[in-house]
Amino acid sequence: MGLNARPAPPRYRSTRAEGAAEVSFAEALERGLAPDGGLYVPTSIPRLDAAWTEAATFGDVVEAVLRPYLAEEEADELVGLARDALDFPVPLRGLARDRALLELFHGPTLAFKDVAARVMARWWGASLRRRGGRALVLVATSGDTGSAVADAFAGIAGLSVAILYPAGGVSPAQEAQLTVRRPNTVAFAVAGSFDDCQRLAKGAMVDPELAHLGLTSANSINVGRLLPQVCSFAWATLQHGRRDPSAAPPTVVVPSGNLGHLTAGLVAAAMGVGIGAFVAAHNANDYFPRYLAGDAPAFAFPGTVATHANAMDVGAPSNFERLHALFGDGFPVPIRGVGVDDAAILRRMAAVSEEDDVLVDPHTAVGLEAVERVRAEGEGGPAIVFATAHPAKFPEVVAQALPGVRATHPRLEGLQGAPRRVVPLPASDAALREALRDLPLG
Ligand SMILES: *Cc1c(COP(=O)(O)O)cnc(C)c1O
Repeated sequence: MGLNARPAPPRYRSTRAEGAAEVSFAEALERGLAPDGGLYVPTSIPRLDAAWTEAATFGDVVEAVLRPYLAEEEADELVGLARDALDFPVPLRGLARDRALLELFHGPTLAFKDVAARVMARWWGASLRRRGGRALVLVATSGDTGSAVADAFAGIAGLSVAILYPAGGVSPAQEAQLTVRRPNTVAFAVAGSFDDCQRLAKGAMVDPELAHLGLTSANSINVGRLLPQVCSFAWATLQHGRRDPSAAPPTVVVPSGNLGHLTAGLVAAAMGVGIGAFVAAHNANDYFPRYLAGDAPAFAFPGTVATHANAMDVGAPSNFERLHALFGDGFPVPIRGVGVDDAAILRRMAAVSEEDDVLVDPHTAVGLEAVERVRAEGEGGPAIVFATAHPAKFPEVVAQALPGVRATHPRLEGLQGAPRRVVPLPASDAALREALRDLPLG
């Protein structure tokens, strides 16, 4: 394809209003949620250039995946920022029996959320530099998003961050990461579940009384989170193919909660990344597996239950709406859904430690357990499980699965005793409105 033949990049539309105004990527990024409360989706999914498989590094893959989404005049800058942001390794680690782990947890907060948060923060910084002004990023977190976003956004000129997390719903290590004092950042410990936090965040975003704050979202509802995550799927299959050029396209197993990662995977498949099938690996919050099996109607979400894999404790996955708008019931490759309860998570953590001599976190264990479940039903072939967090973020669960084992990481040890900034908050729109109005941020 000649340079002049570069197709126009997609525009972005709301999931809710068919035919409503389409916006540019920059606008969709800054708004987060569309004005009608829907999520932005690209109007088309570009195909990867055939030469993408020649990419030598993760950075090259990032470039090949993101460039077709960006307008000519912004592409060089935004691709460069994404390459800078993804400066940590994302290795594929082989296990016995044709399984592999894509280790996505080597970023600063030790979970895969760093991948997208770091790219999005830099993109935001660029957009604020261009147009001036300030913004307040409001992020609801089930554990990992808040610290990844705060770490990525703190210190970017013009941006403040407010985190909403379920009080008592995150591990002590996660809480230390969420509440550590950072410039222009405050954490709210909400008396409620993650779904409450998500509801509060969505409500504030469309609250006319808060319009002056320039509120925006860094949750996986933001397209700025979706696109960088697509790169991980391309990088996983590229490493898989290089290891064994005759290998079948892998089944990619995605430990899922809000379905942001899986939606990105489907986008990757639609772009032409060679994925044989997906497994949506959920904990006991198994709405999506039940939906896939035809046992739950679309959008009939149940409440949330607390599990050992708490970053996936999501009853009402917000990306379901995006996934539905993009693909309806016609997915580009088959998806199987699996729900894994807490007892099976602990057993799998112990089994993997025994069989593979690898310590995994509870979310990754959900994925590894899902591999066994689909194989037991006769689905063979190579499996890549996305390893979404470092086990040291969940030392209590590790100790329960493997008595006597201490999961540690120097970066987390360093947070013990660091100064914190946390504000308790009732789970009500009015309380959040008050708190945001009085926010002592620069
Ligand atoms: C957020 C998270 C998930 C779930 O990802 P979604 O995109 O919300 O489906 C899985 N594992 C970990 C460790 C997470 O932080």
